[in-house]
Order: sequence, then C-alpha cells, then structure tokens
Amino acid sequence: MWVVTRGRIIVADTMTPEMRSRVMRAIQGKNTTPELAVRRILTSIGIGYRLHVKALPGSPDIVMKGRKKIIEVRGCFWHRHEGCKRACTPASNKHYWEPKFAATVARDNRNEVALINGGWKLLTIWECEADDTMLLCRRITEFIGESIR
Ligand SMILES: [Zn+2]
Repeated sequence: MWVVTRGRIIVADTMTPEMRSRVMRAIQGKNTTPELAVRRILTSIGIGYRLHVKALPGSPDIVMKGRKKIIEVRGCFWHRHEGCKRACTPASNKHYWEPKFAATVARDNRNEVALINGGWKLLTIWECEADDTMLLCRRITEFIGESIR
C-alpha cells in the first residue's frame, strides 16, 4: 500500500512481492498524466510525433522522426530525479528498492548515450515539471526550436 504524506510517498511494508510488482507496473505504465500533458502541447502547436518507438534504444516516449528529436517523460520516483522530493527512498526494504533504482538509472544513461550517438537530440521532462504548464510549454517550444515560429 502507498501512503502519500505531505507530498512524499511512503511505502508501507505490507506488500507481497506480487503486489509490489503490480504496483510497479501501474506506476511505470504508459500514458501517464505528465506524458499526456506533453503530447497535448505538441498537438496544440501542430507537431507530429510517434509514441514508444520500439526500434530505438529504450523505446523513447515521444519521437519526432523528421526533426531527429525525442522527448522522454520520466517519473521522478523511479528514474531518481536528483534533488527532487518525489525521488525519496522508501524507508523499508532498502535492499529491494536500491538495486531497482540503480538499474533504472543505469539503463536510462545507456539509452541516452546510444540515442545521442545516433544523432538524436533529447529533452527530458520530469513528472514534477509537468505540473507547471507554462514552464512545460516553454521548455518544449524551446526544444523544438525556430521551425515552429
Ligand atoms: Zn522531480
């Protein structure tokens, strides 16, 4: 069970391994709200994109093929947004969580390097940044560049 206290997620130590992996899958699931926010902005400014492109390293979330640009929308908790209060470590079961976090961050880094080496430009949007629509708009339009003006 997940308990949210003053914006921090605390994981109560009452989960079976099956429950825990179900929760993990739900949180890691696609079409999360921050991703939809990014997609809505792109659509609203007339930018076409493809979703979860499996042919590219890490199946990036939002791919603008013609522009050679990718936007990754990352959950602060799983992807360990540095300095973000949402990237807290659960108090119990550290031996369970820490290797999972480390593996996720290592995988993200590997995929990023592979994409950059392949000539892609990347923008990472953290879920906490998606709360601020104006900031989100600015970051996305800056990333897309002058071609939309
Ligand atoms: Zn964050």
